[in-house]
Amino acid sequence: MVWGAIADDFTGATDLANNLTRAGMRTVVVVGVPHGEEEIAADAVVIALKSRTIPAQEAIEQSIAACRWLRRKGASHIYFKICSTFDSTPHGNIGPVASALMEELKVRFSIVCPAFPDNERFVFQGYLFTGEVLLSEGSMRNHPLTPMSDANLVRVLQAQLFLSERVGLVNHRYVGASTEAISRCIAELRSQELSLAIADATTQGDLERLAEALKDDLLITGSSGLGQTLPAVYGFRPSASVSQLPAAGGRAAILSGSCSSATNAQVRYFLAQGGEAFPLDPDAIVEDPAGQINSALAWADSVAASDPSRSILIYSTADPATVKTVQLRLGAAKIGHLVEECLASIARGLVSGGVGRLIVAGGETAGVCVRNLDIRRLAIGPQIDPGVPWCYASSAVSSQGGLHVALKSGNFGSEDFFIRAFTFLEETQS
Ligand code: ADP
Repeated sequence: MVWGAIADDFTGATDLANNLTRAGMRTVVVVGVPHGEEEIAADAVVIALKSRTIPAQEAIEQSIAACRWLRRKGASHIYFKICSTFDSTPHGNIGPVASALMEELKVRFSIVCPAFPDNERFVFQGYLFTGEVLLSEGSMRNHPLTPMSDANLVRVLQAQLFLSERVGLVNHRYVGASTEAISRCIAELRSQELSLAIADATTQGDLERLAEALKDDLLITGSSGLGQTLPAVYGFRPSASVSQLPAAGGRAAILSGSCSSATNAQVRYFLAQGGEAFPLDPDAIVEDPAGQINSALAWADSVAASDPSRSILIYSTADPATVKTVQLRLGAAKIGHLVEECLASIARGLVSGGVGRLIVAGGETAGVCVRNLDIRRLAIGPQIDPGVPWCYASSAVSSQGGLHVALKSGNFGSEDFFIRAFTFLEETQS
C-alpha cells in the first residue's frame, strides 16, 4: 500500500475512494479504525470515521488511531479528507485534528486545501466560494450542525487552533503560476514559522500543480478534489481493471432517509415511473417502530413473491416543510435518530432476506445501515454519478456472503439515479 486516508465522514470516504479508483488506485474503504492487523491488498486505504461533529478530543483520538494503523500497514502518505465546504465549527474539528496529525507525524508545516473546482468549490485569496456565491452567503450558512458564517478559511482555521499555530495562505498568484512558485511560497511560509496554510485553487490545473508540489508531503488535508489529482503524481494511470467488482446477484432495493432536494426529486421520479415503493410514516415509527419495520419487510416480501426482478424503494424522504413540521412536533434529533434506526433495521431484514444490490440515500442513513449490516470494508467499483460508486462489501448478514451497495450522499445523483444505477451495474458486468 502506498497511500492512507482518514475521512471525517462516511459518504466523504466513498467519494474520495471513488476518485482515487477512477485515477487508477485499487482502493478499499475500511469502516472505522480496525481492531486487528489484517493485511489489505490495495494501493490506497481510506478509513471512514464519523468524526466531523463529535467533540474535538474524540475526533483527535479516532484520527490518531487511524493514522497509527495506516502507518503500521506501511502508508507512506496520510491524507486527512475533509468536506469541500469546510464543514466545521469554531471548536473544530479540522484544525485540532490536522494539528494532532502533524504532531503525530512530526510534521512542522502542512497544507489544507478544500477546493474542488469540478464540483464548483473554489478557494481564492483564502475565501471559499460555492459556485459564484461566498460560502457564508449560501445554504451552508444555515447548516444545522456546521453553519459556515465566515468564508475566510484562514480566519476559520486559525480560530480552531492555538494562536501559536499560525495559519497562512498559498496565494493564487503562486498556485496559478507553477509548481516551483508554490514550493517557493511554502518555503517562505515555513521560514516565517507558520504551521499551516490554506491553498488557493480555482481550476483543475491549480490542483494538479499543488499535487506536484506536495507529492512528498507526509500529511495533506483536503477534499476529494485534491485527492483525485494525487494518484497521477504517484505514477498511477486510470485503468478499468481497478474498479472491477464480483458478479452482482440477489434482489434490488433502495432505502432512502435523505430529505435533500436531489433525493426528493429522485423519489418523485421513481414513483412517477411506476416504481414499487413503501413510504415510512414518522409518526408510526415513533409509536411502534417494530410495527413499521415489520410492515415494510412484509410488503417487500410480497413484491418479491410476485416479481423478484422488480427493484423496490422504502423511503422516509419528505419535503422540507413536512420535515420541519415533524421536527417541531417530535424534536429534530429524536425523529432523525428513530428514522435512521428504522431504516437500518429494514436494511438488515432486506439483506438477510435476499437483497444483494442495495442503494442507500443519505449520509447519516448510510452510516447506520452500513453498521447494521456489519460491513467492515468496501471495495470500490465503477462510478454511477459523480461521487457515487457501486461498491462490494462482505457481510455476514447477507444470505450470499456479501452485497453490492451504493451510498448516495443526499444531494448527489441525477433525477433517474434510482433506476439507472441498477441498469448501469448490469451493463458494467456484461
Ligand atoms: P443527507 O445526506 O440528505 O443529509 P442524511 O441521511 O445524512 O441525509 O440525513 C437525513 C436525516 O433526516 C436523517 O437523520 C434521517 O433520519 C432524517 N429523516 C429522514 N426522513 C425524515 C422525515 N420524514 N422527517 C424527519 N426526519 C427525517
